[in-house]
Amino acid sequence: MENILDYSIEELKIWLVNNGEKGFRSSQIFDWIYKEVYDFDNMKNLSSNAKELLKNNFYFSIPEVVRKIESKDGGTIKFLFKYSDGNIIESVVMKYKHGNSICVSTQIGCRMGCNFCASTIGGMVRNLTQGEILGQILRASSEIKERISNIVMMGSGEPLDNFENVFKFIELVNSSQGLNIGQRHITLSTCGIVPKIIDLADKNMQITLAISLHAPNDELRKTMMPISNKYKICDIIESCKYYIEKTNRRITFEYALVKDVNDSDKHAEELGELLKGMLCHVNLIPVNEIRENSLKKSSSENIKRFSNILLKKGIETTIRREMGADINAACGQLRRSYIEDNNIYKGV
Ligand code: SAH
Repeated sequence: MENILDYSIEELKIWLVNNGEKGFRSSQIFDWIYKEVYDFDNMKNLSSNAKELLKNNFYFSIPEVVRKIESKDGGTIKFLFKYSDGNIIESVVMKYKHGNSICVSTQIGCRMGCNFCASTIGGMVRNLTQGEILGQILRASSEIKERISNIVMMGSGEPLDNFENVFKFIELVNSSQGLNIGQRHITLSTCGIVPKIIDLADKNMQITLAISLHAPNDELRKTMMPISNKYKICDIIESCKYYIEKTNRRITFEYALVKDVNDSDKHAEELGELLKGMLCHVNLIPVNEIRENSLKKSSSENIKRFSNILLKKGIETTIRREMGADINAACGQLRRSYIEDNNIYKGV
Protein backbone atom coordinates (compact mmCIF):
# COMPACT_ATOMS: atom_id res chain seq x y z
CA MET A 1 0.00 0.00 0.00
CA GLU A 2 1.18 3.51 -0.77
CA ASN A 3 0.28 6.97 0.48
CA ILE A 4 -1.59 8.59 -2.39
CA LEU A 5 -0.38 12.01 -1.22
CA ASP A 6 3.15 10.98 -2.18
CA TYR A 7 2.05 11.11 -5.82
CA SER A 8 1.95 14.14 -8.06
CA ILE A 9 -1.00 14.44 -10.43
CA GLU A 10 1.20 13.34 -13.35
CA GLU A 11 2.64 10.37 -11.47
CA LEU A 12 -0.84 9.20 -10.50
CA LYS A 13 -1.97 9.54 -14.10
CA ILE A 14 0.83 7.24 -15.25
CA TRP A 15 0.05 4.77 -12.48
CA LEU A 16 -3.64 4.70 -13.43
CA VAL A 17 -2.91 4.13 -17.11
CA ASN A 18 -0.43 1.37 -16.27
CA ASN A 19 -3.12 -0.25 -14.18
CA GLY A 20 -5.81 -0.20 -16.85
CA GLU A 21 -7.64 2.95 -15.72
CA LYS A 22 -8.29 6.26 -17.44
CA GLY A 23 -5.61 8.89 -16.90
CA PHE A 24 -8.10 11.72 -16.37
CA ARG A 25 -9.20 10.10 -13.12
CA SER A 26 -6.03 11.51 -11.61
CA SER A 27 -7.44 15.06 -11.82
CA GLN A 28 -10.75 13.88 -10.39
CA ILE A 29 -9.00 12.27 -7.44
CA PHE A 30 -6.89 15.38 -6.81
CA ASP A 31 -10.01 17.55 -6.91
CA TRP A 32 -11.54 15.43 -4.17
CA ILE A 33 -8.40 15.46 -2.05
CA TYR A 34 -8.29 19.26 -2.16
CA LYS A 35 -11.97 19.30 -1.18
CA GLU A 36 -10.89 17.36 1.92
CA VAL A 37 -12.38 14.04 0.83
CA TYR A 38 -9.94 11.43 2.09
CA ASP A 39 -11.94 8.32 1.30
CA PHE A 40 -12.21 6.77 -2.19
CA ASP A 41 -15.80 5.61 -1.57
CA ASN A 42 -16.89 9.23 -1.27
CA MET A 43 -15.28 10.29 -4.54
CA LYS A 44 -18.62 10.27 -6.30
CA ASN A 45 -17.52 10.49 -9.94
CA LEU A 46 -15.24 7.43 -9.75
CA SER A 47 -16.48 4.12 -11.13
CA SER A 48 -16.76 1.27 -8.68
CA ASN A 49 -13.87 -0.50 -10.44
CA ALA A 50 -11.65 2.54 -10.00
CA LYS A 51 -12.61 2.81 -6.33
CA GLU A 52 -11.72 -0.85 -5.74
CA LEU A 53 -8.41 -0.54 -7.55
CA LEU A 54 -7.47 2.56 -5.56
CA LYS A 55 -8.58 1.11 -2.23
CA ASN A 56 -6.45 -1.96 -2.84
CA ASN A 57 -3.35 0.07 -3.54
CA PHE A 58 -3.49 3.39 -1.72
CA TYR A 59 -4.20 4.98 1.63
CA PHE A 60 -4.24 8.60 2.79
CA SER A 61 -1.58 9.55 5.29
CA ILE A 62 -3.25 12.56 6.85
CA PRO A 63 -2.10 12.75 10.46
CA GLU A 64 -4.70 12.82 13.20
CA VAL A 65 -4.83 15.56 15.81
CA VAL A 66 -3.61 14.36 19.20
CA ARG A 67 -3.59 17.81 20.76
CA LYS A 68 -4.40 21.27 19.58
CA ILE A 69 -3.36 24.24 21.69
CA GLU A 70 -4.09 27.87 20.98
CA SER A 71 -2.12 30.80 22.33
CA LYS A 72 -4.12 33.26 24.40
CA ASP A 73 -4.28 35.78 21.59
CA GLY A 74 -5.45 33.06 19.16
CA GLY A 75 -2.66 33.96 16.74
CA THR A 76 -0.70 30.74 17.15
CA ILE A 77 -2.11 27.23 17.05
CA LYS A 78 0.09 24.30 17.83
CA PHE A 79 -0.81 20.82 16.63
CA LEU A 80 0.52 17.58 17.90
CA PHE A 81 -0.10 15.16 15.03
CA LYS A 82 0.05 11.38 14.93
CA TYR A 83 0.72 9.34 11.78
CA SER A 84 -0.81 5.92 11.26
CA ASP A 85 2.40 4.22 12.46
CA GLY A 86 2.03 5.96 15.84
CA ASN A 87 4.80 8.52 15.33
CA ILE A 88 4.19 11.99 16.70
CA ILE A 89 5.25 15.32 15.21
CA GLU A 90 4.39 18.98 15.68
CA SER A 91 3.19 21.67 13.31
CA VAL A 92 2.42 25.26 14.19
CA VAL A 93 0.02 27.61 12.44
CA MET A 94 0.70 31.33 12.81
CA LYS A 95 -1.96 33.78 11.76
CA TYR A 96 -0.69 37.03 10.29
CA LYS A 97 -2.48 39.90 8.61
CA HIS A 98 -1.02 38.85 5.28
CA GLY A 99 -2.21 35.24 5.61
CA ASN A 100 -1.69 32.02 7.51
CA SER A 101 1.71 30.46 7.83
CA ILE A 102 2.51 26.91 8.82
CA CYS A 103 5.71 25.60 10.32
CA VAL A 104 6.06 21.95 9.26
CA SER A 105 8.28 19.13 10.46
CA THR A 106 10.35 17.33 7.85
CA GLN A 107 11.61 14.43 9.94
CA ILE A 108 10.46 12.56 13.02
CA GLY A 109 13.08 13.77 15.47
CA CYS A 110 16.42 15.04 14.19
CA ARG A 111 20.01 13.81 14.19
CA MET A 112 21.81 17.14 14.06
CA GLY A 113 22.31 17.39 17.82
CA CYS A 114 22.19 21.20 18.32
CA ASN A 115 22.61 21.77 22.05
CA PHE A 116 19.75 24.29 22.42
CA CYS A 117 17.10 22.35 20.47
CA ALA A 118 14.45 20.00 21.85
CA SER A 119 13.73 18.24 18.54
CA THR A 120 17.04 16.43 18.49
CA ILE A 121 17.00 15.04 22.01
CA GLY A 122 15.75 11.54 21.13
CA GLY A 123 17.69 11.44 17.84
CA MET A 124 16.05 10.83 14.51
CA VAL A 125 13.35 8.19 14.14
CA ARG A 126 12.79 8.45 10.39
CA ASN A 127 12.32 10.79 7.45
CA LEU A 128 8.88 12.05 6.52
CA THR A 129 7.79 11.55 2.92
CA GLN A 130 6.57 14.41 0.75
CA GLY A 131 2.97 13.25 1.21
CA GLU A 132 3.33 13.05 4.98
CA ILE A 133 4.67 16.62 5.13
CA LEU A 134 1.82 17.72 2.86
CA GLY A 135 -0.61 15.89 5.17
CA GLN A 136 0.33 18.29 8.00
CA ILE A 137 -0.87 21.23 5.91
CA LEU A 138 -4.06 19.51 4.77
CA ARG A 139 -5.00 18.56 8.32
CA ALA A 140 -4.09 21.95 9.79
CA SER A 141 -5.99 23.91 7.19
CA SER A 142 -9.07 21.73 7.60
CA GLU A 143 -8.85 22.31 11.38
CA ILE A 144 -8.59 26.08 11.13
CA LYS A 145 -11.02 26.14 8.19
CA GLU A 146 -8.83 28.62 6.37
CA ARG A 147 -6.32 28.51 3.57
CA ILE A 148 -2.64 28.34 4.45
CA SER A 149 -0.55 30.51 2.18
CA ASN A 150 2.99 30.36 3.61
CA ILE A 151 5.17 27.44 4.59
CA VAL A 152 8.29 27.43 6.73
CA MET A 153 10.28 24.25 7.24
CA MET A 154 11.31 25.01 10.78
CA GLY A 155 9.59 22.24 12.69
CA SER A 156 11.55 19.20 13.78
CA GLY A 157 14.06 17.71 11.41
CA GLU A 158 16.76 18.93 9.08
CA PRO A 159 15.18 19.44 5.64
CA LEU A 160 18.47 19.05 3.78
CA ASP A 161 19.03 15.71 5.52
CA ASN A 162 15.84 14.57 3.73
CA PHE A 163 16.53 16.35 0.47
CA GLU A 164 14.69 14.16 -2.07
CA ASN A 165 11.42 14.09 -0.14
CA VAL A 166 11.60 17.77 0.75
CA PHE A 167 12.23 18.71 -2.87
CA LYS A 168 9.23 16.64 -4.00
CA PHE A 169 7.16 18.23 -1.23
CA ILE A 170 8.01 21.71 -2.57
CA GLU A 171 6.96 20.59 -6.05
CA LEU A 172 3.68 19.18 -4.71
CA VAL A 173 2.62 22.29 -2.79
CA ASN A 174 3.81 24.55 -5.56
CA SER A 175 1.77 22.71 -8.20
CA SER A 176 -1.18 24.65 -9.58
CA GLN A 177 -3.31 21.53 -9.25
CA GLY A 178 -2.19 21.15 -5.65
CA LEU A 179 -2.11 23.86 -2.99
CA ASN A 180 -0.67 26.33 -5.50
CA ILE A 181 1.62 27.97 -2.94
CA GLY A 182 4.21 30.17 -4.66
CA GLN A 183 7.87 29.33 -4.14
CA ARG A 184 8.47 32.76 -2.64
CA HIS A 185 6.05 31.79 0.09
CA ILE A 186 8.14 28.79 1.09
CA THR A 187 11.13 28.96 3.45
CA LEU A 188 13.60 26.17 3.99
CA SER A 189 15.70 26.43 7.13
CA THR A 190 18.95 24.48 7.47
CA CYS A 191 21.79 24.10 9.96
CA GLY A 192 24.12 24.38 6.98
CA ILE A 193 24.73 21.16 5.03
CA VAL A 194 26.96 22.76 2.41
CA PRO A 195 26.77 20.27 -0.52
CA LYS A 196 22.99 20.21 -0.24
CA ILE A 197 22.79 24.02 -0.25
CA ILE A 198 24.64 23.86 -3.55
CA ASP A 199 22.25 21.18 -4.85
CA LEU A 200 19.33 23.36 -3.80
CA ALA A 201 20.81 26.36 -5.61
CA ASP A 202 21.14 24.23 -8.73
CA LYS A 203 17.41 23.48 -8.62
CA ASN A 204 16.94 27.17 -9.42
CA MET A 205 13.90 27.67 -7.26
CA GLN A 206 12.67 30.91 -5.75
CA ILE A 207 12.23 29.65 -2.19
CA THR A 208 13.76 31.52 0.73
CA LEU A 209 16.81 29.90 2.23
CA ALA A 210 17.30 30.40 5.96
CA ILE A 211 20.57 29.42 7.60
CA SER A 212 20.68 28.63 11.31
CA LEU A 213 23.99 30.28 12.04
CA HIS A 214 23.81 31.09 15.76
CA ALA A 215 27.52 31.91 16.07
CA PRO A 216 29.95 34.17 14.21
CA ASN A 217 32.96 31.82 14.36
CA ASP A 218 33.58 28.08 14.09
CA GLU A 219 35.07 27.71 17.53
CA LEU A 220 31.90 28.90 19.24
CA ARG A 221 29.59 27.27 16.72
CA LYS A 222 31.18 23.88 17.39
CA THR A 223 30.13 24.12 21.03
CA MET A 224 26.50 24.62 19.96
CA MET A 225 26.07 22.71 16.71
CA PRO A 226 27.92 19.45 15.98
CA ILE A 227 27.40 19.96 12.23
CA SER A 228 30.12 22.64 12.52
CA ASN A 229 32.69 19.88 12.86
CA LYS A 230 31.83 18.95 9.31
CA TYR A 231 31.19 22.27 7.57
CA LYS A 232 33.00 25.52 8.28
CA ILE A 233 31.23 28.88 8.39
CA CYS A 234 33.31 30.17 5.48
CA ASP A 235 32.06 27.27 3.35
CA ILE A 236 28.47 27.92 4.39
CA ILE A 237 28.89 31.57 3.37
CA GLU A 238 30.42 30.53 0.04
CA SER A 239 27.48 28.20 -0.66
CA CYS A 240 25.04 31.00 0.28
CA LYS A 241 26.77 33.35 -2.16
CA TYR A 242 26.32 30.68 -4.82
CA TYR A 243 22.63 30.40 -3.87
CA ILE A 244 22.24 34.17 -4.25
CA GLU A 245 24.07 34.15 -7.58
CA LYS A 246 21.78 31.42 -8.92
CA THR A 247 18.47 32.66 -7.53
CA ASN A 248 18.94 36.33 -6.72
CA ARG A 249 17.14 35.63 -3.44
CA ARG A 250 18.02 37.24 -0.14
CA ILE A 251 19.27 34.78 2.48
CA THR A 252 17.99 34.83 6.05
CA PHE A 253 20.46 34.11 8.84
CA GLU A 254 18.88 32.94 12.06
CA TYR A 255 20.71 33.74 15.24
CA ALA A 256 19.29 32.50 18.55
CA LEU A 257 20.67 34.64 21.34
CA VAL A 258 21.81 32.71 24.37
CA LYS A 259 22.78 34.65 27.45
CA ASP A 260 26.56 34.81 27.97
CA VAL A 261 27.21 32.38 25.13
CA ASN A 262 26.87 34.17 21.77
CA ASP A 263 25.36 37.55 22.67
CA SER A 264 28.27 39.90 23.41
CA ASP A 265 29.05 43.10 21.49
CA LYS A 266 32.15 41.36 20.17
CA HIS A 267 30.01 38.58 18.70
CA ALA A 268 27.76 41.14 17.06
CA GLU A 269 30.80 42.94 15.56
CA GLU A 270 32.19 39.65 14.29
CA LEU A 271 28.83 38.64 12.77
CA GLY A 272 28.59 42.04 11.11
CA GLU A 273 32.02 41.63 9.53
CA LEU A 274 31.15 38.14 8.34
CA LEU A 275 27.95 39.19 6.58
CA LYS A 276 28.89 42.68 5.39
CA GLY A 277 27.95 43.31 1.79
CA MET A 278 25.91 40.16 1.38
CA LEU A 279 22.29 40.08 0.15
CA CYS A 280 20.97 38.93 3.48
CA HIS A 281 18.91 39.60 6.52
CA VAL A 282 19.54 38.58 10.13
CA ASN A 283 16.71 37.32 12.28
CA LEU A 284 17.58 37.52 15.96
CA ILE A 285 15.67 35.08 18.13
CA PRO A 286 15.69 35.13 21.92
CA VAL A 287 16.52 31.45 22.56
CA ASN A 288 13.57 29.45 23.79
CA GLU A 289 14.46 28.01 27.13
CA ILE A 290 13.88 24.27 27.31
CA ARG A 291 13.91 22.15 30.41
CA GLU A 292 16.54 19.71 29.10
CA ASN A 293 19.34 22.29 29.35
CA SER A 294 20.23 25.35 31.37
CA LEU A 295 20.63 27.85 28.52
CA LYS A 296 19.03 31.20 29.21
CA LYS A 297 17.77 33.79 26.78
CA SER A 298 19.51 37.14 26.43
CA SER A 299 17.81 40.12 27.99
CA SER A 300 15.78 42.32 25.67
CA GLU A 301 18.21 45.22 26.21
CA ASN A 302 21.04 43.00 25.13
CA ILE A 303 19.16 41.82 22.05
CA LYS A 304 18.46 45.43 21.14
CA ARG A 305 22.15 46.29 21.53
CA PHE A 306 23.18 43.32 19.41
CA SER A 307 20.71 44.35 16.75
CA ASN A 308 21.94 47.98 16.74
CA ILE A 309 25.52 46.90 16.15
CA LEU A 310 24.44 44.92 13.09
CA LEU A 311 22.23 47.73 11.83
CA LYS A 312 25.13 50.16 12.14
CA LYS A 313 27.16 47.92 9.89
CA GLY A 314 24.38 48.14 7.32
CA ILE A 315 22.98 44.69 7.92
CA GLU A 316 19.22 44.33 7.83
CA THR A 317 18.22 42.91 11.16
CA THR A 318 14.92 42.02 12.79
CA ILE A 319 14.11 40.66 16.20
CA ARG A 320 11.66 37.77 16.05
CA ARG A 321 8.47 38.20 17.94
CA GLU A 322 8.03 35.39 20.40
CA MET A 323 4.78 33.99 19.11
CA GLY A 324 3.18 31.24 21.08
CA ALA A 325 5.76 31.21 23.85
CA ASP A 326 2.88 30.58 26.26
CA ILE A 327 2.12 27.29 24.52
CA ASN A 328 5.62 25.89 24.18
CA ALA A 329 5.43 26.50 20.48
CA ALA A 330 9.12 26.26 19.95
CA CYS A 331 11.11 23.52 18.43
CA GLY A 332 9.95 20.14 19.51
CA GLN A 333 9.08 20.93 23.08
CA LEU A 334 5.48 19.78 22.87
CA ARG A 335 6.48 16.51 21.25
CA ARG A 336 9.10 15.97 23.97
CA SER A 337 6.61 16.41 26.76
CA TYR A 338 4.09 14.14 25.02
CA ILE A 339 6.73 11.43 24.56
CA GLU A 340 7.73 11.69 28.21
CA ASP A 341 4.17 11.69 29.51
CA ASN A 342 3.23 8.70 27.39
CA ASN A 343 6.48 6.78 27.66
CA ILE A 344 6.92 6.45 23.92
CA TYR A 345 10.38 5.49 22.65
CA LYS A 346 11.32 4.35 26.12
CA GLY A 347 15.04 4.35 26.58
CA VAL A 348 15.73 6.75 23.72
N1 SAH B 1 17.08 21.86 11.13
C1 SAH B 1 16.68 23.09 10.56
C2 SAH B 1 15.25 23.46 10.77
C3 SAH B 1 14.60 23.19 12.10
S1 SAH B 1 14.94 24.21 13.47
C4 SAH B 1 17.61 24.20 11.02
O1 SAH B 1 18.52 23.93 11.78
O2 SAH B 1 17.45 25.32 10.57
C5 SAH B 1 14.23 25.77 13.12
C6 SAH B 1 14.98 26.91 13.77
O3 SAH B 1 14.75 26.95 15.20
C7 SAH B 1 16.47 26.82 13.59
O4 SAH B 1 17.01 28.08 13.35
C8 SAH B 1 16.92 26.33 14.96
O5 SAH B 1 18.27 26.57 15.16
C9 SAH B 1 15.98 27.09 15.85
N2 SAH B 1 15.89 26.59 17.22
C10 SAH B 1 15.97 25.32 17.67
N3 SAH B 1 15.85 25.27 19.00
C11 SAH B 1 15.69 26.54 19.41
C12 SAH B 1 15.49 27.16 20.68
N4 SAH B 1 15.47 26.44 21.80
N5 SAH B 1 15.35 28.49 20.72
C13 SAH B 1 15.37 29.23 19.59
N6 SAH B 1 15.54 28.72 18.37
C14 SAH B 1 15.71 27.39 18.27
